[in-house]
Amino acid sequence: MTSINNEMVDLRSDTLTKPTQAMREAMAAAEVGDDVFGEDPTVNELERRAADLLGKEAGLFVPSGTMANLLAFLAQSRPSDTLILNEEAHPFNYEGGNVAMVGGLLTRTISGSLGMMSADEIRPFVKRSSDHHFSQTTIVSIENTTNRGGGNMYSVEAIAEIRALADEYGMRLHCDGARLFNAVVASGISAADYVRDVDTACFCFTKGLGAPAGSILTGTHDVMEEAHRFRKLLGGGMRQAGILAAAGLHALDHHVDRLTDDHRRVQQFREALEFVPEISFPMATPTNIVYLDVPDAEIFQSETAAGGVRLLATGPGRFRAVFHLDVDDAGLEKAIDVCKRAAGRCGKG
Ligand SMILES: *Cc1c(COP(=O)(O)O)cnc(C)c1O
Repeated sequence: MTSINNEMVDLRSDTLTKPTQAMREAMAAAEVGDDVFGEDPTVNELERRAADLLGKEAGLFVPSGTMANLLAFLAQSRPSDTLILNEEAHPFNYEGGNVAMVGGLLTRTISGSLGMMSADEIRPFVKRSSDHHFSQTTIVSIENTTNRGGGNMYSVEAIAEIRALADEYGMRLHCDGARLFNAVVASGISAADYVRDVDTACFCFTKGLGAPAGSILTGTHDVMEEAHRFRKLLGGGMRQAGILAAAGLHALDHHVDRLTDDHRRVQQFREALEFVPEISFPMATPTNIVYLDVPDAEIFQSETAAGGVRLLATGPGRFRAVFHLDVDDAGLEKAIDVCKRAAGRCGKG
């Protein structure tokens, strides 16, 4: 795989990957059945495999990460309860307000660093009381890796402390692990160890894993049974979904270890731009996402685009670059060159 120099290098998101030829072949060859009847062998295999990988009793294949998070909340809370999550969290920022509309939940957002929260930061906001004035805080959601937090990762110890707090107050704990496997390969911590202390955990096949659709939610049989009911209710029951599940199985076999390549390229990208005076890096970059700040966002965006490199504008003067399956070393070199030249045109900040 070499990218010729006039090909666009698209760093806006790791969701932009196209299925490889081998993945398409695995999809075409998938054995399928009607999954609403529970009869799609490939979906069943993927759910079993994902649950085993995460050390949970059961898994549920869903169309998107958005649905996985929503089902985790619906299955483990009641309308009028409060959900605690970081103010940068995906379900708060990018899921259309579904927790309010569909879940009937209040959200209590917390401003922990890099998209994460500590047990001590959460504690003051927990309300569990027989006083009928209060909405009951029944669920906490953490994100690993953090999307708006620069792809940063929790320690297992920090998650264990949140677990202890959740137990103290009888709260459920969910992990939005859209990029869980980026955390796994970067830390060397197994997926099962990483989610040991949460009740439910999901991950996306569509990010670094490179599949065209689908996420998995995992947890106990009871909670997954409830989530399954809500999946149908929301229109997420898919029929011969084994075509998609086959892409997920292929991704688990072939696209997990290679995430280290994305992490290496992010480091090379950052190191090459670290001394460019117009560019600064607001956050640590341990996985595949890097944020950069520039003095003139408009010029930077138009100059990079003209050079054939796309970045995502995420805030005033702030851009995100995400490395993924469809960016090779030639793409990396091109991204570095184009960003350097574009920064030079931005003037001093
Ligand atoms: C992408 C993402 C999701 C879910 O996204 P979908 O587009 O609905 O699959 C959830 N959480 C995080 C942190 C994400 O990055």
